Amino acid sequence: MHKDPLPPAPPTDDPSHLARDLMVLHQLRGRGIKDAHVLAAMSHIPRELFLREPQRRHAYEDSALPSLSGQTISQPYMVAAMTEALAVSPGHQVLEIGTGTGYQTAILAELANPGLVCTIECLPELHALAQQNLSALGLQNVRFAFADGSQGWPDQSATLEFERILITAGAPQVPATLRRQLRDGGIMVVPVGARDSQVLLRIERRGNRYLELELMECRFVPLVGAEAWKQH
Ligand code: SAH
Repeated sequence: MHKDPLPPAPPTDDPSHLARDLMVLHQLRGRGIKDAHVLAAMSHIPRELFLREPQRRHAYEDSALPSLSGQTISQPYMVAAMTEALAVSPGHQVLEIGTGTGYQTAILAELANPGLVCTIECLPELHALAQQNLSALGLQNVRFAFADGSQGWPDQSATLEFERILITAGAPQVPATLRRQLRDGGIMVVPVGARDSQVLLRIERRGNRYLELELMECRFVPLVGAEAWKQH
């Protein structure tokens, strides 16, 4: 009979480990997230580190929570579903739009290592906060940009292409620059739709064709920028 492995015992210096394992068991595995690497990354990364009081005590609840400047840290299930759909492997070059607190960035960095995660945030206080959070975790394969991510990674010096692109804010349409920065054979995951509700799309590039799969309905804060909504 196939038996699932037991979750690892919580280390004594990390009291939140048990809460995290329960989150993984009930909110993620219980709802169909299967990718063992995604589940492992989400049982390692301490979500409470990315939150402040009074939110911190709710870190392992099944919900999005306020971060700074009217923005949110996404619901754990949504982070897991997006990450699973993105299918990140070690060595991948990943672009993330909407760094926020850096929680999703940390999970991508763990999965892509030794590949690089390039992440863009357009609000200065979140751009700064995410850098603090990720350096506290010792994750070094991340590059941060303070810019409008709807226009892609700002360093145009090289022919830039990413194997994976994740947009963690709701877009009115897929920004054309981001389509161009997706490598042939690459995958992009992006919520697209109205300001207050979107459909999560998984887009695979095949040459000049972009094959779209609708994953689920979702609700993200708006992607704001030149190739997106015009205001927060
Ligand atoms: N994944 C984040 C949550 C993202 S919330 C986390 O784990 O905390 C969406 C983020 O996208 C917000 O921080 C918002 O400021 C940012 N954002 C919106 N439009 C953007 C743009 N054009 N470029 C970069 N970041 C953007």
